[in-house]
Amino acid sequence: MKWLARIFRKRAAAPLAPPVFLTNTLSGAKELFIPQKPGLALLYTCGPTVYSRQHIGNLRSGVLSDTLARVLTAAGYRVHRVINITDVGHLTGDADEGEDKMALGAAREGRSPADIAKRYTKMFIDDLHELNVDTNDIRFPRATDYIDEQIALAKTLEEKGFAYRLPSGLYFDTSRFPGYGKLGNIAGAALKSGARVAPAAGKRHPSDFALWRTAKPGDLQQWESPWGRGNPGWHIECSAMSRALLGAEIDIHTGGEDLAMVHHNDEIAQSEAASGRPFVRYWLHNAFLTMGGEKISKSLGNEVYLSDIGAKGFPPLSLRYFFLQAHYRTPLSFSWEALGAAAGALERLWNAAREAAEESGRRGAPSDARRRFLIAMRDDLATPQALGILWEALRSEDYTPEEKWGLIEEADAHFGLSLAAAPAAKRIPEEELPREVRELLERRTAARKGKDFAEADRLRGELWERGYRVDDGPEGPVLTKDSL
Ligand code: AMP
Ligand code: ZN
Repeated sequence: MKWLARIFRKRAAAPLAPPVFLTNTLSGAKELFIPQKPGLALLYTCGPTVYSRQHIGNLRSGVLSDTLARVLTAAGYRVHRVINITDVGHLTGDADEGEDKMALGAAREGRSPADIAKRYTKMFIDDLHELNVDTNDIRFPRATDYIDEQIALAKTLEEKGFAYRLPSGLYFDTSRFPGYGKLGNIAGAALKSGARVAPAAGKRHPSDFALWRTAKPGDLQQWESPWGRGNPGWHIECSAMSRALLGAEIDIHTGGEDLAMVHHNDEIAQSEAASGRPFVRYWLHNAFLTMGGEKISKSLGNEVYLSDIGAKGFPPLSLRYFFLQAHYRTPLSFSWEALGAAAGALERLWNAAREAAEESGRRGAPSDARRRFLIAMRDDLATPQALGILWEALRSEDYTPEEKWGLIEEADAHFGLSLAAAPAAKRIPEEELPREVRELLERRTAARKGKDFAEADRLRGELWERGYRVDDGPEGPVLTKDSL
């Protein structure tokens, strides 16, 4: 039975999951994803600072993390996900300068930092739900719940000789950590921020950063620590919480590209100095969402919120569709016209999905389009190409309804656009229909009443030729405009 043993050995050696490629900011190259443990992906995403509402730019980072988790899940991985909630320690400037964001939010609304945090955390999670992010699969640790872990980590760093004390707090000495700034031009960033604001008195190098900050009179958030009363620096929470929830070494860390140079380089320094092990295997950064050539950001005052999209009558998922049209590493320019176009395309996709559901009886079959779709998504999340493959196949007559449905199911698992459960078609009010269309519809209803189904189907075809699709709902025929 040697041959049988050989087959089994071959099987065991075969990779458990199909290959997934990711562009790693550490190397700047596309790399094959190899997790520490086969079949398990540990994924950490830098989440919101909950002193105000998250705008649609922030949500681009949430959708990247979700699309990545969907790709990995569909490739057979179990994914352990964490998105942190920053509710302490984040200043308006990244390099230990500016005002405390939570204090700003509390003063603005005349409420406690804890109230502010609760309010904006809920809004963030509600927005994720609207975008079809299944939050049951994600842990959302709050920085204020991990103060002990942050103190313990800062203590380890001090004991190992990586930190020094100043009256203003405890600082990480970046010169003690070889290879500081792996993710990019940290020296340039530190110089820039040093030029903007004088570094904290006594800081040994411009890139050194606070692990713990001494409380100032009136600080609303403060705790006891070996360095006196105070609060943690911003970066330490991600090192402490990813270690507590995912372990010292994680597979993938994501966030917006603005975080790479300071926040993420500082996370690497803290985590690796403390553990002596590599912190993250793959760093993924999404490019900005811009508007009129500028980054959408709170400080520029040009924010758009998900609720604004709903208020204009667009489904929230049209934002998700809009994001998918660009690769996550490409800057994406938002405008209401472009969002309207995405909403129209999504409606057409829903129509096509309803049609394929009906014609296939929801029985899916494999196809070369489905295979190409999977290859595109596993090639560094090539969402524009994957969308192209989906549209091309749905418009083509070369695929059977079952093959189309199989592709739609796959696209649904990866895109999160509710394709398999497309919302009911929007009824067009009768008074908005052209007269001839109204007449055709009335004749069809009469034919059905008289049980002349052949005539009813012929009239349905005539309506179809004029770009209208009829579905028979419980309250009578529903007309949708179908420009597929
Ligand atoms: P914040 O609440 O400012 O800490 O940001 C939360 C996340 O959103 C971070 O990963 C940021 O890098 C990201 N982010 C902020 N603004 C934008 C933008 N305009 N486009 C894309 N991502 C952004
Ligand atoms: Zn972080």
